[in-house]
Amino acid sequence: KAKKAALSKAGASYNIALQDADQGVVTRFPPEPSGYLHIGHAKAALLNDYFAHDLYKGTLLLRFDDTNPSKEKQEFEDSIIEDLALMGIKPDRTSYTSDYLQVLYEHTIRLITEGHAYADDTEQEKMRDERWKGIASERRERTVEENLRIFEEMKVASEEGQKNCIRAKMSVDNPNKAMRDPVIYRCNLLPHHRTGTTWKMYPTYDLAVPIVDALEGVTHALRTTEYADRNDQYQWFIDILGLRQVHIWDFARMNFIRTFLSKRKLTKLIDTGKVWGWDDPRMPTIRGVRRRGMTIPALRDFILKQGPSRNIVNMDWTNFWATNKKVIDAVAPRFTAIDKENTVRATIIGGPDKPYTEEKPKHNKNPEVGTKKVTFSSELILEQADVKLMKEGEEITLMAWGNAIVRKIVGSDPITSVELELHLEGDVKKTEKKVTWASFEGQTLIPVELVDFDYLITKDKLEEDDEMEKFLTPVTEFRSAALCDQNVQDLKVDDIIQFERKGYYRVDKAYKDGEPAVLFNIPTGKEAKK
Ligand code: ATP
Ligand code: MG
Ligand code: MG
Repeated sequence: KAKKAALSKAGASYNIALQDADQGVVTRFPPEPSGYLHIGHAKAALLNDYFAHDLYKGTLLLRFDDTNPSKEKQEFEDSIIEDLALMGIKPDRTSYTSDYLQVLYEHTIRLITEGHAYADDTEQEKMRDERWKGIASERRERTVEENLRIFEEMKVASEEGQKNCIRAKMSVDNPNKAMRDPVIYRCNLLPHHRTGTTWKMYPTYDLAVPIVDALEGVTHALRTTEYADRNDQYQWFIDILGLRQVHIWDFARMNFIRTFLSKRKLTKLIDTGKVWGWDDPRMPTIRGVRRRGMTIPALRDFILKQGPSRNIVNMDWTNFWATNKKVIDAVAPRFTAIDKENTVRATIIGGPDKPYTEEKPKHNKNPEVGTKKVTFSSELILEQADVKLMKEGEEITLMAWGNAIVRKIVGSDPITSVELELHLEGDVKKTEKKVTWASFEGQTLIPVELVDFDYLITKDKLEEDDEMEKFLTPVTEFRSAALCDQNVQDLKVDDIIQFERKGYYRVDKAYKDGEPAVLFNIPTGKEAKK
């Protein structure tokens, strides 16, 4: 239901159509299994899903773009499948570029045989320089026989083979540098996570994508705009090889302030111990933002609202979390937490002789959230910060109980105890101070650890070549202890709740055998920028 709601909202504002959609729509999401999906990937996946399944009655393919054994792992593949399912995305078919290695090899033989590709052993630096200046490689005019022979050497990764790569013979000096004889095959001796050591050379992305798109019947290939320079070479391969035409459809990358969305950089954060792993709540991965308390309906809603605009925007996290707050505020049960290091004992004059417990709603405005136990007694704990502001003789409100008059404050900095006289006839609308409290008697207070996080990165707008190390926030994790009402002992991992006057939290570890529960603060978008 949440999915449909998010989509209809987004769909209404898109007002776009794909070219030739009447002839069928097949889209594909082509992740490389070299890391966990981040929220940028989520945009690509959701857009492909939107076109294939919501705007048209089409087909969505999931294709693992797995032709670089240096970076790819089964663990990543599994996590991608799980995360797509979590987002409600159901691909109609799943495939692997590595299933096409034989086919891609044969297409390359054809390119070579027809004079459209050549083997080149120009050393890397020199090749880069020649491409930049528009100078032809000395190897450009090798004969077809020579090129075929070397391609076979590459196949077995002989010494000569390993020195060479295959380049498409497109152009030496095209103003579009992507057209300057791009590399389409190179050796890699590392075992591949699916094909083992069967292959010792692999096609590049530039060659594999157009061929596999065409062969799999993709009608519309969605690509981020930074690939626009490569659209011509994509078309070149389709035309030269006489493959089925594919519409390329560009959309904008999604970037966020103070955030790297690059698997390479995220991997580095993990490898250097800056975060706990791919699902660290500070990571911009789908798992990371979920663990921080983002909900899937809000994630979908947020991303689909960006729509397929072609302007690259540096998104602010404020809107991201504000979208989530709307979702969780309506359903998050309310509980009480008292800062453990700064409690003040309060005695209630005229309070109950014996503790008693009542069932109260968990959410003031939403009875469907259920009820919880609230224990009343004459021995409470309050927070130092609240009591510090009180004056003797003042009328205050004990939240969800009623008014009381401050009779006596004992000690200062820290205040050691306070006496309050219950005054339930008082008007709660007239008091200035609403005070959080928990009964010290008649219930077992539950210890919890509250964790808040800061951005990993100190710089708002990062450039592509900014070195991550220079912009790392020194401390990004803040822990404090609290004592909570008895209901908190029943919370389970992943529950999202609100502590009155403190904020929203997601349970990362449940309370068990006296071991504190661990809860992560969920941003609401309202936080002052740190
Ligand atoms: P990374 O730089 O994180 O490795 P990538 O583009 O190399 O990203 P792929 O696994 O190849 O990672 O990406 C799969 C799909 O997700 C591609 O279609 C890619 O264009 C898209 N994508 C990646 N990052 C973003 C982003 N920030 N915003 C929108 N789409 C993105
Ligand atoms: Mg990629
Ligand atoms: Mg990238």
